[in-house]
This record gives sequence, structure tokens and C-alpha cells, in this order.
Amino acid sequence: MARVVIVGGGVIGCAIAERLSRERRHRVLLLERDTLGAHASGAAAGLLSPHGEANREDDELAGRSLAMFPETVARVERSGVLVEYREQESLRPALAAEDEERLRRGRGRWLDAAGALAEEPALNPSVRGAAAVPEAQVTPARLVRAFARTAAAQGAEIREGAPVGPLAARSGCVTAVETPGGLEAADVVVLAAGPWSPMLAAPLGVEVDVRPSRGQLVTLRPAGGVLGRPLTWRGSYLVPKPDGSVVAGSTEEDVGFDERPTAEGVAGLLDFATRAAPALGAAQFERAWAAVRPATPGGGPVIGPAPGLSNLMLATGHGRNGILLAPVTAELIAGQVD
Ligand SMILES: Cc1cc2nc3c(=O)[nH]c(=O)nc-3n(C[C@H](O)[C@H](O)[C@H](O)COP(=O)(O)OP(=O)(O)OC[C@H]3O[C@@H](n4cnc5c(N)ncnc54)[C@H](O)[C@@H]3O)c2cc1C
Repeated sequence: MARVVIVGGGVIGCAIAERLSRERRHRVLLLERDTLGAHASGAAAGLLSPHGEANREDDELAGRSLAMFPETVARVERSGVLVEYREQESLRPALAAEDEERLRRGRGRWLDAAGALAEEPALNPSVRGAAAVPEAQVTPARLVRAFARTAAAQGAEIREGAPVGPLAARSGCVTAVETPGGLEAADVVVLAAGPWSPMLAAPLGVEVDVRPSRGQLVTLRPAGGVLGRPLTWRGSYLVPKPDGSVVAGSTEEDVGFDERPTAEGVAGLLDFATRAAPALGAAQFERAWAAVRPATPGGGPVIGPAPGLSNLMLATGHGRNGILLAPVTAELIAGQVD
């Protein structure tokens, strides 16, 4: 039985732990430096939106992953953690003249202004129309916990507060990883440490082209149900959550590993929220937060064996779509480890 050590307890590491422990053919150890989902995976908005501005190859991967959600959710919710998965149409409103032509040519049902306002009365009355696109959402922190609990029930060992040191190899193999408690032997190492992955791989001479990209979010709490469905506009979105709040996101900033929200970031999100759905101006401001995504230059993830090291798997670089891409990533890694 191969011993697989997964470095990183975000949604990607936890999804892989769940997948690899499912058939009980591997001994799985997941090592997380902080707590599970402590960074982007616990912070994300949870929109499962496969048709963003990704390239076609990523679109295909995202579509496959979205299709895996109903079965994945049914399986991991047996752990007792409900992940608040909901299939629904998102609206892409044409808030500016230049949006209209692009959205009309894009995916989904095109609604004229009257149709869009009839379906979503909270939209800005000056809206020029909207595309309705089938998508879904989950609550990411719950999804991380559900994957981890399911993995643990299947025999995986999940350790929090367990930082792994920079990786080292012997004769082209990573035979162990270093933790404060000592060396952990490994037949296979899966590097799923989000934007921190490059630092861990660098001593091996493996270049992982991933950098941190900060995203900020705010939560608003309207008095009544203002929005019935998510609104997405260019890189911004409003996501109504099951508890009645609305999450507005998100920025994309190149500021290193700083995970604190800023006045400018929050002001921009509030401006977008109240422009897209003016009634949100009366909502309570609940909180603002930020996290760093693992971003790649091309926008697509890095999944598979590291060049020159057959037993090191890379699973990172999921950028804006890591929650969505978790099930398909776990499947692709399982295909390489089996
Ligand atoms: C504001 C925001 C909104 C987002 N919204 C969405 C969305 O709506 N839909 C969507 O699909 N995606 C969304 N994303 C993207 C998504 O959150 C990420 O792509 C995804 O969480 C990446 O998961 P990960 O497991 O690779 O990384 P992470 O969540 O960063 O997890 C990596 C883990 O590795 C750990 N680690 C690092 N170094 C070590 C070490 N040396 N030893 C042990 N552990 C280590 C870290 O502590 C961390 O917990 C959003 C991201 C942000 C920031």
C-alpha cells in the first residue's frame, strides 16, 4: 500500500485526500500548516461558474468538474457536513452598452431589459438586458470540512498545525517530507500548498509558475431577500447565500502574500454592489476579508507529475476557480497515482 503525503489542507488537498482514501488502496497523510481551509479555500465566494474568461481547455475542465458536483456532494454530505450546494441560473447583466453585444453572443438565455427586471427586480433599472446562465454554488469552508471528514472516515490521517519544510529529493525521488515532529516517509508526495507551492518545490529545482493574487470580499446583510440569484459582471459578482447575506467580490491584486482587505478594495466592491443592485445600499455592512489565490500566467491550473521527479505531483494554480475545479483535480491526480 503506497503512502501518499499531501501537503496543504485547502480545498484541493482535501479533495485529493478524499479521492485517494476512497478505495482504501493508499495510506493517505494530509499535512496542513495552519487549519483546514484557513486561506483562499475557506475565504472564497463559492460560485461554481465554469464559463468565465478562461481559455477553452480550462472551460472543458471546469465543465467536467461542475458535472461532478451532484455526486460529490451526495457522497461527502454523508459526513454530516452540509455544503449548501445549490444549482441555479446566474444573471450576467449588461450594465454598460459594450456589455450588451458580448453577452448577446455568449452563453445562456438572453433577456431584454424588461425580462431581466421581471426575473430579478433588484437589478439596476437602467440595465440593458442580461444573460441567464446555468451555474451553481456551495459554501467553500463547508466543502473543505466535508472532504476532510469523509477522507478521515475512509482512513486518511489529517494533521493541522503541521508545516512541511522545503522538499528534498534523493536519486530523483522525494522519499520523505520534513515536519516539526520529524520526517514522514512518502512513496508519493502531492504538493497542494496553493500559492506557497513554489517555495516548497524550489529546492528541488522544480519551478512552479504560480504567484499569489489577492482577492477581497465583503458580506452585506439586506433586511429582506434582495437578490434571488447570483449576478456576475466582468470579474465582479454578487452571490446571495442561504443565510440571507450577499457576498460581493472580488478584486485581483498583485501584492504578495498580504491577506488583509483595504479601503480601496472594499470601496470598489461596494460601488459595484450598489450599482448592480441599488437596494443593497440599505443593507448592513457585515464584514470584509481577503485571501490569496494561486494564480498562473495562463489562468489554468498545474496538475500532474513535476518534471524530472516521478513521485512528486503538483496540484495548484487554480486561480479564481479552485472550488469549482476541486473534484476534477482530485480525479486527475488519482489517475496519476494509481
Ligand atoms: C476572494 C476569493 C474569492 C474566490 N471565489 C471563488 C469562487 O467563487 N469559486 C471558485 O471556484 N474559486 C474561488 N476562489 C478561488 C479558490 O478559493 C482557490 O482557487 C482555491 O481555494 C485554491 O485552493 P488550494 O487548496 O490550492 O489553496 P489554499 O486554499 O491556499 O490552500 C493551500 C493550503 O496549503 C497550506 N500550506 C502552505 N504551505 C504549507 C506548508 N509548508 N506545509 C503545510 N501546509 C502548507 C496553506 O496553509 C493552505 O491552507 C476565490 C478565491 C478568493 C481569494
